[in-house]
Amino acid sequence: MKTLRADVLVIGGGPAGLAAAYRAKAEGAGAVLVLERNRELGGILPQCIHNGFGVRHFGEDLTGPEYAARWVREAAAAGVQSLLETMVLDVGPGPRVVATNRRDGLIAVEARALVLAMGCRERPRGALAIPGDRPAGVYTAGTAQRLVNIEGYMPGERVVILGSGDIGMIMARRLTLEGAEVAAVAEILPFVSGLRRNLVQCIRDFDIPLHLCTTVTDVRGAERVESVVLSQVDERWRPIPGTERTWPCDTLLLSVGLIPENELSRMAGVALDERTGGPLVDEGMATSVPGVFAAGDVVHVYALVDDVTASALRAGRFAAAYARDGAGAPGDAVRVEAGAHVHHVVPQRVHLGRLAEEAIPLQFRVRTPLERAVHAEVRVGGETLLARRQRYVRPSEMVTLSLQPEHAQAIAGADALEVCITVEPDH
Ligand SMILES: Cc1cc2nc3c(=O)[nH]c(=O)nc-3n(C[C@H](O)[C@H](O)[C@H](O)COP(=O)(O)OP(=O)(O)OC[C@H]3O[C@@H](n4cnc5c(N)ncnc54)[C@H](O)[C@@H]3O)c2cc1C
Repeated sequence: MKTLRADVLVIGGGPAGLAAAYRAKAEGAGAVLVLERNRELGGILPQCIHNGFGVRHFGEDLTGPEYAARWVREAAAAGVQSLLETMVLDVGPGPRVVATNRRDGLIAVEARALVLAMGCRERPRGALAIPGDRPAGVYTAGTAQRLVNIEGYMPGERVVILGSGDIGMIMARRLTLEGAEVAAVAEILPFVSGLRRNLVQCIRDFDIPLHLCTTVTDVRGAERVESVVLSQVDERWRPIPGTERTWPCDTLLLSVGLIPENELSRMAGVALDERTGGPLVDEGMATSVPGVFAAGDVVHVYALVDDVTASALRAGRFAAAYARDGAGAPGDAVRVEAGAHVHHVVPQRVHLGRLAEEAIPLQFRVRTPLERAVHAEVRVGGETLLARRQRYVRPSEMVTLSLQPEHAQAIAGADALEVCITVEPDH
């Protein structure tokens, strides 16, 4: 088996992998190699042809392919190497990675530092246990996005969408613009699960009917979907008998969540967070395995690609430092835990040695929307260390609070920080 060597090896050539590789090179790493299973770099972005990417990072409103192309150029100009159509099969100690492609068969890559950047995948129908027939015409929203935007096929003419995730809402608009009728978007929760801007720009602006507290309880059709049955649900998500309504359609799209892609992380022995589904990381995106870093949607599903890029730039920086010195973060680490109303927080640990030198962003998502004044807080030993008042918080919108170097002293000696939301009493 051919064996390659890299100072920093990156698995996945999406926006996270490209930014991590670029930054590792910019920090002076020698050989930086990206392994990507697709024919092209850019990850999922080539199929996301709408705008809204890169407003924060580049200060421009780019489409997905434009944003990806910028990073492909930046990485190439920095001297990053890539192997396309190369699928990583195994990650072992070292770190040593085994991959395969048509040219070389099996190849091994031995690296001084590794960045996991495999992105996420969509939750499929099987994970939902939707009853009914198994006709053609049921797609995930991402598959439909690829069919329409890359392959040039329309998945159907009359569409029902289950789930109000961002990709589903974006596809509701896309299919409408392409001449299909989106008959309904059904969401089991009492609130939309994607971003507010997509609710406004993709659903309301196109008068697409949205049904909250509603799910699919039957899919009918012999060869092809002919109709779906939507039912209202109670507060425990159980369909309410008597509320069934049949919607004739030829296509059902599923937009019911994204799952970080972590089979390789498990092989690497990386500890995972059961709330995010991704690796537990520190402020430098280092996982529990020395020399193995993680960035982008593999860590937790970000809503904005600019946040993916920010996480990847940190991973690339610290992976390059590890490749150079073989040393991890300095000093003790304190755990960061999710408190009241918070679903999860990243990073899950912070090194005080680093905090003494630079600000460290803590990013978190809440469990349910609180459409009233709240305080996002970081606490230590029950005392508030940092707080910001917000007009609202929503699960779809990540909240960021940044620890500052002057907080290091107050945290020293503590086991854990707690990130929580407190709700202002009614006046
Ligand atoms: C279907 C879909 C549609 C999306 N649409 C939008 C959108 O419209 N707007 C938006 O803001 N965000 C969208 N997102 C979120 C988007 O994923 C992130 O904003 C961003 O692309 C994440 O970057 P990433 O590099 O972490 O992951 P990705 O972009 O997913 O890149 C991961 C890369 O890793 C590669 N890879 C995975 N496993 C292996 C392996 N074993 N060997 C080699 N390579 C591997 C993959 O082929 C892929 O190229 C979408 C996500 C999905 C899944």
